[in-house]
Amino acid sequence: VSTLINQTIDKLSQALESKEISSVELTKAYLEQIKKMEPEINAYITVTEDYALELARASDERRAREESKGLLDGIPFGLKDNYSVKGIRMTCASKILQNYVPPYTAPAAANMLEAGAVLLGKNNQDEFAVGSSTENSAFGKVINPLDITRVPGGSSGGSAACVAANEAVFSLGSDTGGSVRLPASCCGVVGFKPTYGLVSRRGIASLATSLDQAGILAKSVKDTAIIMNHLASYDPYDSTSWPQSKQDYTSLLGSSIKGLRIGIPQEFLGDDIDPYALSWVEAAKEQLIKAGAQVFTVSLPHITCSLPCYYTIMSAEFSANMGRYTGMRFGERIEGEDYFSTIVNTRTEYLGPEVKTRILYGSFILSEKQYHTYYVQAMKIRRLIAQDFEQAFKEVDCLLTPVQNGLPFHLGSREGDSVKMAISDKMLVPVNLAGLPAISVPYGQAEGLPGAVQIIGKPFADAQTLNVADVLEGRE
Ligand code: GLN
Repeated sequence: VSTLINQTIDKLSQALESKEISSVELTKAYLEQIKKMEPEINAYITVTEDYALELARASDERRAREESKGLLDGIPFGLKDNYSVKGIRMTCASKILQNYVPPYTAPAAANMLEAGAVLLGKNNQDEFAVGSSTENSAFGKVINPLDITRVPGGSSGGSAACVAANEAVFSLGSDTGGSVRLPASCCGVVGFKPTYGLVSRRGIASLATSLDQAGILAKSVKDTAIIMNHLASYDPYDSTSWPQSKQDYTSLLGSSIKGLRIGIPQEFLGDDIDPYALSWVEAAKEQLIKAGAQVFTVSLPHITCSLPCYYTIMSAEFSANMGRYTGMRFGERIEGEDYFSTIVNTRTEYLGPEVKTRILYGSFILSEKQYHTYYVQAMKIRRLIAQDFEQAFKEVDCLLTPVQNGLPFHLGSREGDSVKMAISDKMLVPVNLAGLPAISVPYGQAEGLPGAVQIIGKPFADAQTLNVADVLEGRE
């Protein structure tokens, strides 16, 4: 069984179906791997061993009765620790929630459990998902399993690292400004951010409401599409959820991309482009041309404003969302003399430095005098960025870009430097500002580490985006 832990859902579900292995055996193999890797990697905050075995037994019983729920039934997975699961601690990698147990399950997580997937535990992340390296966790940093001197990317670093280290078959993360795609590229796995609204966000701790999107970290594009089939669903209790009927996201995989028009936005390959990142995009371009696609250079003129625009909107929304952590209703509390000193004591003690910085920044931006100067201005720029994409998508079907400007950086090298850290998100945040689907797919390599490229699709062209990534995957 231990030789199976690096396999895809596709392969494992066949082995489960033919009774070559049981879900209990598979789950035990993963739990063992977690024990082996965790002292070094730190990809989990909570491991739900008993619950996992209980779910695995139930899955095996279903299979014995020939009532399997499909491809995810019996497959072990991880969840970023900002997803609520009833009865299981959710920390958001923050001390303020270190003992918090949610009373309900986020629909995105429930969809996985309903499909029969086996929850192994909750993955480490940047505190409240703010960061690009998973160095901002109150539960310790996550280490990149491919090179222990480098960051795994963030904020879903635990989710990416656990898939790369075979500590789960897949994991769900969240992507507000690249937090699924960046760690995926650092750890050599696939990271997919669906179109805004396709996956329910209820029960996933909010970072920035107009940008947040649940996402998938998996071993292959096909696995990603299989997971997406279960993950995407309409949630009447999430006001941003898109009314949708079931779609088969695997349906286009393997189909020809002949005649497909692919754009490379020139602003993504400016003077400061890293030679490795450029070479991966060039090679991907050649391969797509060989597969029959036509490739054009396109321009997204306002894209250079993306980072300040993103950081303004994100901080404003984050500070508003963080207002709920007062120590009054849930989470930790340090009593003070009165109501306000209780809040101040609690937040001072239990929130980390990056979280505090952004709350201050966001509160300033939303203050009466500054609101129009910053927030309203950023919203206008956001519209221009979205329009740039709309314009480009009149000429091309999807876009090809780098994910990050080179290899993952070294641990500690950007820690505490908010500007340098933010630059890691440059190629990623425009996608969230425009609500588009995008995928980071491993491509090429350098210095013994995997490279990656990003495919950005039109709104709701998620299946097509997956198909283009599938063409690139493993065929360089
Ligand atoms: N790195 C970005 C930030 O710190 C993205 C965060 C995210 O996508 N959750 O805001």
